[in-house]
Amino acid sequence: MADKKADIIIVGTGASGLFCALNLPKDKDILMISKDDLDRSDSFLAQGGICMLKSDDDYESYFEDTMRAGHYENNKDSVRIMIKSSQKVIEELINIGVDFEREDGKLKFTREAAHSKPRILFHEDLTGKEITSKLLAEAMKRDNITIIAHTTMVDIIEEKNVCEGIVIRDNKGNIEKWYANYVVLACGGIGGLYEHSTNYSHLTGDALAIALKHNIALKDIDYIQIHPTTLYSTKRGRRFLISESVRGEGAILYNANMERFVDELLPRDLLTKEIKKQMKKDNTKFVWLSVKELGSDNIKKRFPNIYKKCLEEGYDITKECIPVTPAQHYFMGGIKVNTNSKTSMNRLYASGETSCNGVHGANRLASNSLLEAMVFAKRAAKEIIDTYDELKVVDKDIDLEYYKDAERLEEEYRELVLEEIEKVHKKRENKKKAM
Ligand SMILES: Cc1cc2nc3c(=O)[nH]c(=O)nc-3n(C[C@H](O)[C@H](O)[C@H](O)COP(=O)(O)OP(=O)(O)OC[C@H]3O[C@@H](n4cnc5c(N)ncnc54)[C@H](O)[C@@H]3O)c2cc1C
Repeated sequence: MADKKADIIIVGTGASGLFCALNLPKDKDILMISKDDLDRSDSFLAQGGICMLKSDDDYESYFEDTMRAGHYENNKDSVRIMIKSSQKVIEELINIGVDFEREDGKLKFTREAAHSKPRILFHEDLTGKEITSKLLAEAMKRDNITIIAHTTMVDIIEEKNVCEGIVIRDNKGNIEKWYANYVVLACGGIGGLYEHSTNYSHLTGDALAIALKHNIALKDIDYIQIHPTTLYSTKRGRRFLISESVRGEGAILYNANMERFVDELLPRDLLTKEIKKQMKKDNTKFVWLSVKELGSDNIKKRFPNIYKKCLEEGYDITKECIPVTPAQHYFMGGIKVNTNSKTSMNRLYASGETSCNGVHGANRLASNSLLEAMVFAKRAAKEIIDTYDELKVVDKDIDLEYYKDAERLEEEYRELVLEEIEKVHKKRENKKKAM
């Protein structure tokens, strides 16, 4: 007999994990765990917004923008599903109290780089916090959902390609087995593996390392997005993002001679390339971004968080330029899943940034990730319920001592993931050369 069992375990309490939990029926006993504080997920950090299909007229254009940004390597089915599901997801968010900016009572849309039209909903420059805090509050109200912070999944429990649960380390260092009928991995990105990243540093791709250990299929794990404009700093830790919507609304990039050198609305990967080229030419570690053009009142109203953070760092963006530089930002690749977020292992699902259903192709279009994280989390929930059956578990004899040394294990997992990324990258480069 198993020591502890939940009906469904969800690893991760970002937008994806929470939306999955909220889309599961209330008669299922759900355990959610998070490696850190509940409000320290990347979902809380999203500034710019979330895309929504504004009207049927915009479908072709939204589809094309997503495909073009992704270098046409996107899975078209995933893109279609994401766009077609967007209005319903937004409706559900509004129903739980998410407050998007409105004009004359109607939803207000903004535009970001590589979008040919405004189709992004936002809440000041704190959209992710607005959405995720409301999802979290809703999940906390549900008697069937137990949420535990500072608890890390260190492995899954597997028998013949069937996932039977997870191994966790709690905040006191205790190691425990938790069995479940289904497990959903919603563990976010991999920014914590990099020196310069906009992500929280505890997001180190644990789910990927565990997937590698258990021969679970991965996809495109060398597709890593660098954000072109993060606030330059010599300090250690997370890099502060200067959202795309700042450029979408008219901010300008300058080189060391204060000359404009690029189209600010290029897709992220192309803009990053141009900025890096310019930095090399100027022999600098940053370029300048001027937000002044947007006007002082507008900046304070539209981007209060960016304004405040830059002030703390010594820059008044209503009056002066800020130094910006590219940093790791998003992970397009991940655990390979189908359009219902099912992995190659039975009873195991993955959604959000940890997973790869091919929706982003080689490069993500701005503000598609919160949407994707929720659309496909909901599909995971639906498939779990549609196919639900009880797993009869026999308690496994697992060497729990192996997981005790957190530092050693973290290093082992880190190396595993970084080596695999390098391997996949080299393979892709060789393939390109051979063509
Ligand atoms: C600065 C910034 C700005 C962004 N702006 C936007 C934007 O404007 N629009 C947009 O669409 N996207 C934006 N993104 C991207 C978007 O926020 C993320 O892709 C999305 O929120 C990912 O959601 P998630 O639920 O998959 O992961 P996350 O929200 O990162 O949650 C991951 C969860 O997994 C947990 N976890 C990880 N490993 C373990 C483990 N081993 N055991 C237990 N728990 C674990 C973490 O603690 C966390 O709770 C931005 C990202 C950043 C960093």
